Amino acid sequence: MIRANLLIDSHGRILRDLRVSITDRCNFRCLYCLPETEAAQNFYRGRWANLPNPAPISRQWQPKSKILTFEEIERAVRLAVGLGVQKIRLTGGEPLLRHDVEQLVARLARIPGITDLAMTSNGFLFPQKARDLREAGLQRISFSLDSLDRENFKKITGRDGLDEVLAGISLARELGFHPVKVNAVIIRGINDHEIEALAGFARERSLSFRFIEFMPLDSAHAWQKGLVVPGREILQRLQACHPLLPATSDNPSETARRWKFSDGRGEIGIIAPVSEPFCGHCNRLRLTADGKIRTCLFSIVEHDLRSLLRSDASDSAIGDWLQSVVWQKEDRHHIGEPEFVQPERTMSCIGG
Ligand code: SAM
Ligand code: SF4
Ligand code: SF4
Repeated sequence: MIRANLLIDSHGRILRDLRVSITDRCNFRCLYCLPETEAAQNFYRGRWANLPNPAPISRQWQPKSKILTFEEIERAVRLAVGLGVQKIRLTGGEPLLRHDVEQLVARLARIPGITDLAMTSNGFLFPQKARDLREAGLQRISFSLDSLDRENFKKITGRDGLDEVLAGISLARELGFHPVKVNAVIIRGINDHEIEALAGFARERSLSFRFIEFMPLDSAHAWQKGLVVPGREILQRLQACHPLLPATSDNPSETARRWKFSDGRGEIGIIAPVSEPFCGHCNRLRLTADGKIRTCLFSIVEHDLRSLLRSDASDSAIGDWLQSVVWQKEDRHHIGEPEFVQPERTMSCIGG
């Protein structure tokens, strides 16, 4: 039933992409992820009069003892790569908050079989770490940038950090990270007025810019369908101001529908998991910082890899276990359906 040496699920999807969250901590409080600032709470209350006040959140980070060590992460990645995983993305929380992250990158870069070693970061600390990460073998970096307006950036992220993130994006290009991807989560009434400017920024700087629909994974459970700007609407607005040509792709598991600017510089992608789900081609698996395997962003069950890694289980026993977990991968998400249940953990814990 389970094919040898591959992570394959019961729907026939072969998993090639492992997202590894290396910390649940973050130095930002994005209003679509950890909406814990006054500005974020005011936004949700003010806009949705019927919405109960977001529950007070007493944030507790996982204690260090529960966080996987570098040795444990390396072993988990080696086992996954032995089962056909090719792409590794380090994420969080904010991955650059993890001490000596470049040492972890160097360990992973030595694992044969990884074709793509990437990271997603909010970029605030990137200027301090960029060179070490590059030397350690990081191949690609994706940044989050939801606004080009200093005040709006601060409102969205809870941090006055636009200059640092812009500096990080420039430096990534200088150091040869390619392509440099930038992600923006678009929320109606927050940054949808910046869509055209963000695309212009991508075009000027030859960036690969991704517009992402807001998903129900925030800590206050304040997500509302009306706050989602559908990918189709984003595309129509962009087509009205920038001539775009569809970009071809040979990767059916790609989450973004991509478009090139007709003058050839930079590209945009639209990631529309809510309005146009792409679960049928999903090839992703996630490992949380505290060692839980999640087979879907919206899983409500997690699988405890940490206990196994800390037991005397052999590599082959853990590999068998991983295959049996992956077999159970959910076919799709159920956002918008009556039975949908938002996962307890937020995007900052799951790893985007
Ligand atoms: N802290 C890093 C960052 O923000 O880039 C990495 C972790 S973050 C959880 C990874 C990605 O998830 C980011 O691109 C972020 O924009 C996205 N994200 C977080 N919450 C989201 C939500 N509710 N809906 C859609 N994307 C979300
Ligand atoms: Fe924002 Fe990423 Fe931190 Fe979430 S984990 S609050 S998306 S910077
Ligand atoms: Fe994959 Fe789950 Fe996201 Fe669908 S919702 S694309 S199955 S992770």
